[in-house]
Amino acid sequence: MPSDRQGSKAPGRFRALVVDDSPSIRRRVVDKLATQGFAITEAGSGEEALALTLEHTFDLVVSDIEMGTITGVQLCRVFRGDPNMADLAFVLLTAAQDAKTRFWGRNAGADVYLAKEEMDEQLLPAVEKLMKGRTPRESVRPELTGTPLERVSAVLDHHLFDVVLQSEVRRLMDHVNNRIEFADKALELAAEVIGCPYLVLQLLGPGGPSYSILARGPWPEGNSTAGVAALGIPEQSLGAVHTTVVRDPKFGPGKDVVAGRAHTFDIRVGGETLGTLQIFAGPAACAQSDIRSAELVTDAMGVVVKSLFLVEETQLLALTDGLTGLYNRRHASLRLAEEIARARRNNTGLCVAMCDVDHFKAINDEFGHSAGDRVLQQIADSLTEYVRRNDIVARWGGEEFLVIFCEIKLTAARIVAERLRGRLANTPQVEGGPEKISVSIGLAMLGPGTDADALIEQADQALYRAKARGRNRVEVAGEERRTKPSSIMHKSGASEREDQTLPHADGNADGK
Ligand code: GH3
Ligand code: MG
Ligand code: MG
Repeated sequence: MPSDRQGSKAPGRFRALVVDDSPSIRRRVVDKLATQGFAITEAGSGEEALALTLEHTFDLVVSDIEMGTITGVQLCRVFRGDPNMADLAFVLLTAAQDAKTRFWGRNAGADVYLAKEEMDEQLLPAVEKLMKGRTPRESVRPELTGTPLERVSAVLDHHLFDVVLQSEVRRLMDHVNNRIEFADKALELAAEVIGCPYLVLQLLGPGGPSYSILARGPWPEGNSTAGVAALGIPEQSLGAVHTTVVRDPKFGPGKDVVAGRAHTFDIRVGGETLGTLQIFAGPAACAQSDIRSAELVTDAMGVVVKSLFLVEETQLLALTDGLTGLYNRRHASLRLAEEIARARRNNTGLCVAMCDVDHFKAINDEFGHSAGDRVLQQIADSLTEYVRRNDIVARWGGEEFLVIFCEIKLTAARIVAERLRGRLANTPQVEGGPEKISVSIGLAMLGPGTDADALIEQADQALYRAKARGRNRVEVAGEERRTKPSSIMHKSGASEREDQTLPHADGNADGK
């Protein structure tokens, strides 16, 4: 409300513009506002109102919706679309009672929307609330000038551009299956409207962070870390960079990345940050329109990215075991079948190791179920750390783990399995758990005509023998008749010591 009633320190009075094609309604509004000390200007049409803004600055507009050529909704959009007028208070009045007009009025960007019959009671309280805390605006001219119709048309055109851009981002959803595809396509789209040389899209999802980079300037070969470092992206994220697109043929591979100032835009949904889009200005400053486009793009990305993350999360849940985070049995079976097919195609060896914790029931009984759980988690971590990236570790059952060794021969797999057993027997104890644990391992090599089920069955039988022969040992399928295991298989002795300096992958050297 006017400064004197608010006790505000504002100099001068608030200026109100009252727009209505009906003189009698205009009078009613003017009379009401006058009681509150506003300096009031009247306009009989949207055109007249827009022309007045070229000469005067207002703090409040109260406008009818339905008027001649330029409606109150359009008027409101012109104000909101002009950076120099966007913050003034806007009240829309309507005589229409239909739902569509009400919807349109509410969504035009007005602060308050009132039916004319509500005006007598509600206008002043609404205005008072609206003006609270404000001070009269500095004198400022609109940024967009020209005839009223030119101004409406420019604003509508901008608005149409915004809507089209945002809907294009959302439409990407129909054409992508995962975040990687989305990131690539979204960056290409963003680059059509953002002129900066480097665009980086970072997404933080349930599967871990990922980066996509679009470079239209010099960029080192491939996804080289040098380029990423030049953009100042934190080192710990480098592993997740998946894309570099050099689109501008003017720039071949080169090292002279000139990142310039980075502008960062959060991708958010309901208070949750899902990632960021960074645009790098390069040698020149970023244009204001680039910043605006980046805001629009990231705005629209929120829901799309969230949906992709939900799909990702569901897939992860379906694939993994809740306690250990390892693949579950169902997924491991699928992967095993795939890896068997691959091994046959490439004529490489494949082995599986079935690992079962020894006397696990006793661990539960003595230390409690949750200590047992922690032991399982620790074993899962050790297994994951130990195997190569291409190998697959899964929780096969309660205290049973399956490891699929890809591209490996039996001799090498045997060494690896033995080291694994030794390593697990020497894993540091979990808090409140047993001092020592051990596992027994049954190892089986893929043979001609063996399928996944048969291979697992062979590993199971070997495991059974390992248990029968005293536990904490590795047994290999097909070596049933051997009474004395080879020295490397022996439970005690120098050969079973952990040799952590020798990566198990070395076993591959004698493989194939
Ligand atoms: P063996 O050396 O012959 O393998 O003996 P074991 O006691 O390890 O084998 P058994 O199959 O008799 O017992 C397995 C135990 O594992 C029984 C079950 O309650 C426990 N178990 C299965 N899943 C979980 C789990 O998720 N958490 C915990 N704490 N215990 C589990
Ligand atoms: Mg067991
Ligand atoms: Mg078991």
